[in-house]
Amino acid sequence: MKNICILGSTGSIGRNALKAVDNLGWKVLGLAANSNIGEFRAQVRAYRPKYAAVFDYKASAELKGSIPRGTRLLPPGVEGLIELASLKEADLVLNAVSGSVGFAPLVASIRASKHIALANKEPMVMAGETLISEAVRWQAKIIPVDSEPSAIFQCLEGLKDRNYDAAVSRIFLTASGGAFYRHKGSLAAVTPAKALKHPTWNMGPKITVDSATLMNKGLEAIEIKNFFSLPISKIQVLIHPQSVMHSAVEFKDGSVLAQMSEPDMRLPIQYALTYPERVKSLVKPLNLFKVKSLDFNEPDFRRFPCLALAYEAGRLGGGYPAVLNAANEVAVDRFLKGAALFTDIPVIVEKTVSRHHSRDRRPPTLADAVEIDQWARTKAAEIAAHLKKKRK
Ligand code: NDP
Ligand code: MG
Repeated sequence: MKNICILGSTGSIGRNALKAVDNLGWKVLGLAANSNIGEFRAQVRAYRPKYAAVFDYKASAELKGSIPRGTRLLPPGVEGLIELASLKEADLVLNAVSGSVGFAPLVASIRASKHIALANKEPMVMAGETLISEAVRWQAKIIPVDSEPSAIFQCLEGLKDRNYDAAVSRIFLTASGGAFYRHKGSLAAVTPAKALKHPTWNMGPKITVDSATLMNKGLEAIEIKNFFSLPISKIQVLIHPQSVMHSAVEFKDGSVLAQMSEPDMRLPIQYALTYPERVKSLVKPLNLFKVKSLDFNEPDFRRFPCLALAYEAGRLGGGYPAVLNAANEVAVDRFLKGAALFTDIPVIVEKTVSRHHSRDRRPPTLADAVEIDQWARTKAAEIAAHLKKKRK
């Protein structure tokens, strides 16, 4: 039995993780969320964690009176998240918050030498290479939760050392295609409600919109490049509508290893928790007779410019991925609030990235990544406001 802390417990990954934790019979040591007090309170009552943290100040104050005895409410804001992410008593930390807010808690978990199950991909886009070096330095283990990096991680398991580039010729990174893969006509008029209808996965709003723009695949390509120290040119995106093959690795000798299963996040979540062990999960066995065929198509980079923007940022390196990620977070937020069109998302990202003039192509330091993120957010907000005003 292990003690686990879950950051983002009320989200799509967080709720699935609690099911995996129930399946494993582990103890929940700490839970954290942002503002969904109804769900969070129910979780705290059901799991009786020793620690709880709520980021939103008002929500945290509201929760104070109804916290059961035996649970300590940590301070609101990033302070509580950092404390929860680095508790001495924790055997494992699952970081499943959405967006770059997970950056500081991830750094704290690394410096506390934790076993980290990482769903929160945005920090790995901002400064993944530096985070991996820090993890090596602090002997922290980072195991990916996202289904594609998890698949690649599993395919690479047999290699003796971390020099993946020497053994790998290509990564086949699969994508469902998102909500608009088969959409005919212009994407300018699509609503947030339409973008939030994902064909195969049931996920949080930000990542679902990222799937619809294909930015999610671009973020994953950068995450994978950083995680496994591979050139982004070795990563090829395949549209695979069945979402059964979660990604594959082609080795130098021509062998291709793939990881397959029913599309169910409880599997990669549980694997990240039990790694390197494999134990029975709640996931239905794959019935290949029912799946029948696996399709793979080329992505349309013109119709989904976010994918090309992400590849370019990944190729440029330096602070570019952090700029791309921050601008995308702002653009998606505006789209979800009805303040930007779906087709404004790549425009906001592209314009923000083009204002970042840096020749430094080295991986940013952690402090630089945070600074670049802040700068890009301000710029992207200005650009989004300007676009909106122009349209009136
Ligand atoms: P959701 O939007 O469903 O959940 C986000 C969670 O993070 C919620 O618990 C939310 O709390 C919490 N949260 C948000 N902001 C803060 C904050 N400032 N402080 C503390 N907690 C916060 O997202 P998902 O579960 O879909 O995704 C989480 C991460 O996992 C993302 O980075 C995503 O890219 C990645 N991922 C998700 C997959 C999926 O299947 N869903 C697949 C692969 C990766 P509250 O509910 O209170 O707002
Ligand atoms: Mg994914």
